[in-house]
Amino acid sequence: MSNPWDWTDELGPEKIVYVHDAAAEMRGVVAIDNTAAGPSIGGVRMAPDVSAEEAFRLARAMTFKNAAAGLRHGGGKAVLFGDPHWSDDRKEPIVRAFAQAIRNLSEYIPGPDMGTNERCMAWIKDEIGRSVGLPREIGGIPLDEIGATGLGLVASADVAVRYCDLELAGARVAIQGYGNVGRHAARLLAARGAVIVAVSDSGGVTIDPQGLTISALDELKAAGRSVSEHRLGQPGAGEEILDVECEIWIPAARPDVVTRENVGRLDTRLVLQGANIPFTLEAEQILHERGVLIVPDFIANAGGVICAAVEYQGGGEQQAIETIESKIGANVEAVLARAQSSGRPPREAALSLAEERVRSASALRRWHR
Ligand code: NAD
Repeated sequence: MSNPWDWTDELGPEKIVYVHDAAAEMRGVVAIDNTAAGPSIGGVRMAPDVSAEEAFRLARAMTFKNAAAGLRHGGGKAVLFGDPHWSDDRKEPIVRAFAQAIRNLSEYIPGPDMGTNERCMAWIKDEIGRSVGLPREIGGIPLDEIGATGLGLVASADVAVRYCDLELAGARVAIQGYGNVGRHAARLLAARGAVIVAVSDSGGVTIDPQGLTISALDELKAAGRSVSEHRLGQPGAGEEILDVECEIWIPAARPDVVTRENVGRLDTRLVLQGANIPFTLEAEQILHERGVLIVPDFIANAGGVICAAVEYQGGGEQQAIETIESKIGANVEAVLARAQSSGRPPREAALSLAEERVRSASALRRWHR
């Protein structure tokens, strides 16, 4: 393990706290990176191989994501040792013990992440009165039901098309992944007149240059089948989604799907990153040099965390939808304007914008010179 003091810089982390409860077999780490803009929000990840360093790295990513989204929240993250596939019965004592352990870390607001869900957040709220990503019955905004991330992708598209001389109506769209992110993006973009020419899932791809029928795709998924079984589309292997000629390409599945080796297969003008780190930095650089515009993940897919911030303030679904649209629209505009004027890739422009926001919030803190 690297030395935690090596991770520190002028932004953080403020605290790395190890938590342990032998009776509940709970072991975990909380990383609170930066709280200059407000209490940190970030998920609780359960996995067998987590580490303090991972918690810190994820917390730093949340500092930038929350700042980039224009939220009054800093970044934090927690990791718990455990198997994400454990039953609720097995997880509940661990999660409740974790909640008690962070009772006094009021500058950290937990949310769901890999291995934890809205029920886990309900247990934490029950213990200490503080968490986001709650079930609807206790004031939660069901972000995957309202399509929070898909809404943000469409708000990104609305702004980004102007920067690459496209019209949303009539634009051909290919989407990798037809889950919580991909299916809402497909539905909302089709409603705006875009033509969904290809979608894929872990079972394969379906392609129709005339446009796929969203309701038919949704019916297949509801029946537990693959989109590649769409009656009218042309089926193929999942990775053929890379070769589909389109104006907008949306990764909404896995990390690292586009690399230096396969980036040459993409034939598109605009990429809206729904998934987290779907492209390697090298692949992004190659696309940038080819003139393909990329709206990076932490700007385009911030719908979920914006939803969580609205929930934390006691807001409802409609307010969440409006806040996602207005914040992401404004942030994409700010990032793309900066990228255009500097000639730098949008990811660099977004990072510099987020860092400036964190630094100017930090400058207002008492200990800052
Ligand atoms: P999900 O599990 O609901 O859906 C994932 C989809 O990807 C499924 O349709 C699955 O079949 C498909 N898939 C898996 N492997 C594939 C492959 N190799 N090729 C093509 N499709 C494949 O997940 P989700 O919530 O939609 O999240 C998708 C991505 O977006 C993840 O990277 C997640 O971290 C990121 N993300 C999600 C949210 C959110 O609000 N749910 C927010 C921000 C980022």
